[in-house]
Amino acid sequence: MRGVCGAGRAAATATCRDGGPDGVRQRAGRWRAVGRYDHCVSDCLFCGIASGQIPARTVRENSRTIAFRDINPQAPTHVLVIPKEHYADVAAVAEAGGGLLDEMASLAHRVAVAEGIGSGYRVVFNSGPGAGQDVPHAHAHVIGGRPLEWPPG
Ligand SMILES: [Zn+2]
Repeated sequence: MRGVCGAGRAAATATCRDGGPDGVRQRAGRWRAVGRYDHCVSDCLFCGIASGQIPARTVRENSRTIAFRDINPQAPTHVLVIPKEHYADVAAVAEAGGGLLDEMASLAHRVAVAEGIGSGYRVVFNSGPGAGQDVPHAHAHVIGGRPLEWPPG
């Protein structure tokens, strides 16, 4: 089951790529629906990054997931891994099935190895505002490059 941002799918003004099945076209400062509605959500920062409409420092990418550097890094390596389609949180990704959560975990590991932290890193899914999930689009934090305390704060 896919989640939605903000006021919900019925109020969404935009998704998806100009002329394609899963992009976003920006018009008058807002994304406007031009294709399928069920892949990305207006006013969602990570949908914008996934579609290429919002710039990010991409580290790795495959057909269904993308990894990019956190703009507010909490460690020498701090990369976010997201599904390109919009899911509200990790539970929604898991419920969707199809190996998508596996792909996120695999990409997180490949990022860690490529960043030179493969011998010890942390993958964190904050779920819900009470845990600090600041963007309601499922994402895994890949953190490493410094000593990691336990329990985390
Ligand atoms: Zn999104």
